Amino acid sequence: MGTIRDYFAKTPLQRERLSQIGRLSDRLAVDAHVADERNQLSLAAIEALKAIHYPAFTVPREWGGLGIGLYEWVLYQERLAQGDASIALGIGWHLGIIYDLREKRSWPDAVFRQLCKEVVEKGALVNRAATERATGSPSRGGKPQTVAIRKQDGYELRGRKTFTTLAPVVDYFIVTATIEGTEEHAEFLVQRETPGVRIDPTWNMVGMRGTSSHDLVLDGVRLPAEALVYVKASRHQGTASPYLLFIPACYLGIALAAREEALKFAASYQPNTLNHPILYTPNVQQWLGQMELELSAARHYLYAVAERWDARPDDPAYLEPELGAVKTYAVQTALSVVDKAMRVVGAHGLALSHPLQRMYRDVRFGLHNPPMDDMVIHSLAQRAVKEAETAGGS
Ligand SMILES: Cc1cc2nc3c(=O)[nH]c(=O)nc-3n(C[C@H](O)[C@H](O)[C@H](O)COP(=O)(O)OP(=O)(O)OC[C@H]3O[C@@H](n4cnc5c(N)ncnc54)[C@H](O)[C@@H]3O)c2cc1C
Repeated sequence: MGTIRDYFAKTPLQRERLSQIGRLSDRLAVDAHVADERNQLSLAAIEALKAIHYPAFTVPREWGGLGIGLYEWVLYQERLAQGDASIALGIGWHLGIIYDLREKRSWPDAVFRQLCKEVVEKGALVNRAATERATGSPSRGGKPQTVAIRKQDGYELRGRKTFTTLAPVVDYFIVTATIEGTEEHAEFLVQRETPGVRIDPTWNMVGMRGTSSHDLVLDGVRLPAEALVYVKASRHQGTASPYLLFIPACYLGIALAAREEALKFAASYQPNTLNHPILYTPNVQQWLGQMELELSAARHYLYAVAERWDARPDDPAYLEPELGAVKTYAVQTALSVVDKAMRVVGAHGLALSHPLQRMYRDVRFGLHNPPMDDMVIHSLAQRAVKEAETAGGS
C-alpha cells in the first residue's frame, strides 16, 4: 500500500529515487533542529546532497546531469523539505535556476555549459542575488541599486544584496545590476572568490534560519565582459515561472512534516482522563480529517500543474497564472495545516525542543517568497477579464 509520502511517485525509478531522498531527508531532520538553534545552515546537509549528486539532477542529460522534469523534481523537493525546509529551499533555488536555464537557453551556451560541468564534476552551487532593501521583492520590478560600471576590459560591480540564500556555500552568484548611465537591467555571473565579494552575516530571522540568507556585498568587483550573461528586456519578472514550483513544494513539505508530528503525538499521548490515546477522540479526528482534506487538495493541484507543464501545453500563457496560483494555495494550505497540527499537539508543541514550533515559524516565510499573493490574484483576475472581454466581443 502506498503512503502519503510516495503517493505521487509514478514510476519505479521515481519511487527508488524518492526513497533514497526520503532516507536522506529523515537524517537531515536532526541537523535542521540544530541549524535553527544556531542560526547556521547545515554544512553536513549540503555535503550529503552533493554525495548523491542532487545538485546535478536538473542539469541537461547531454551534459552529464539527470535532466529531470518539473513533476519529478517537485516530488523530491517536497520530500526534502519534510526533513529540512531551509536546505530544501536553498537547493531548490540552485536546481530551479539550472532547470530554467536549460529550458530557456537564455545565456551564452558556452557559459551555461561550463557552469553545468562544474555542477556535475564538483557539485558547484549557484543562486540568484536579486533582492535589495530598496527594491523589496524583485518580482515587482524594482530598479537594482547595484550598479555595473563599464570598464575597458569588462565591468565593475558595486552594491549590496539582501536575502542571499545559502550565501556561505554558493559558488556562483547571479547578481542583478543596473548598467551605469542606462536603464538596462542585467545579470552577471560572479564567482565567490572574486576580490571584492563579501558575505555580511545579517540573517537573523524568526524562521528559515538554516538558509543563512545573508547580505552579499559587492565592493568594486572587477569582472570580464563575459560575466554579463543576460540583459533583461523588462525589469518585471512576471508573477510565475515553472522553476518556482519548488517553493510550494517546500511549504507543503513543512505541512506534511507537521502532520506527521501531530499523528505521532496523537497516537502516543494518553492523559489519565482517557482510556485510549487522543488519536481516537472525535475532536482530534476532526482536526486530522481537515488536515488530510486540505493537504490532498493542495498536493493534487501542485502535481497536476507540474504534470501539465511537463506535457508542454499548447497554450502556456493560459497555464502560467496557475503556476503562481499553486504557490498561493499551497502556502495558505501549509499555514492552515501547521496551525491544526499545533492544535492537536497542544502546548507540548510550543516547547523549544519540539520540531513543531520550528515548522510553525518556518511556514510563515512562504508568504514572502515569490510570486507574491496580490500579484498572483491580479494575474488570475486578468485572465478572467480577458475571457469576459473575448466573450463580450464575440
Ligand atoms: C527564506 C527566504 C529566502 C529568500 N532567498 C532569496 C534569494 O536567494 N535571492 C533573492 O534575491 N531573494 C531571496 N528572498 C527574497 C524574497 O524573494 C523577497 O524579495 C523578500 O522576502 C521580500 O519580500 P517581502 O514580502 O517583504 O517584499 P517587499 O517587497 O519588501 O514588501 C513588503 C510589503 O510592501 C508591499 N509592497 C511592496 N512593494 C509593493 C508594490 N509595488 N505594490 C504593492 N505592494 C507592495 C508588500 O505587499 C508587502 O506588504 C528570500 C526571502 C525569504 C523569506
